[in-house]
Amino acid sequence: MGNLEHLYRQVIMDHYKSPFNKGLVADPTYFTVNLHNPSCGDDMTVQIKESNGIVTDIRHEGTGCSICCSSASVMSITLKNKTKQQALDIIHDYYHMLTNEPYDQTILNGDALAYHGVAQFPARIKCATLAWKATEQALLANKEE
Ligand code: ZN
Repeated sequence: MGNLEHLYRQVIMDHYKSPFNKGLVADPTYFTVNLHNPSCGDDMTVQIKESNGIVTDIRHEGTGCSICCSSASVMSITLKNKTKQQALDIIHDYYHMLTNEPYDQTILNGDALAYHGVAQFPARIKCATLAWKATEQALLANKEE
């Protein structure tokens, strides 16, 4: 394992142990989506709040493997305070990174790039994308008042 791989593994473990934006809120202005990944047993709920076209908050709560839970934390800090379209663009860029398609490293933040190695493990891609898919569904379904 090279130094870079070691660094990426550390990023993932840090987010797993000390996640950002974890915990759901009882606020009806948030839009909630729950997704399940039967192949690993991951269960993830995300909540998003949009205001004037900006994703002003993202919360997550789930159980599962370290890749799934840590990526929810990374997703939340990556997409928070972006416009809906920016957030969707970043989500698609992240998917491309994980499926070995061309992607733009400059629009993913450093922590999201830590998951590029998951592309070598197809069985784990669903773990790394579960929280991102939940947020994508929430963004597409949420109609801001
Ligand atoms: Zn998993």
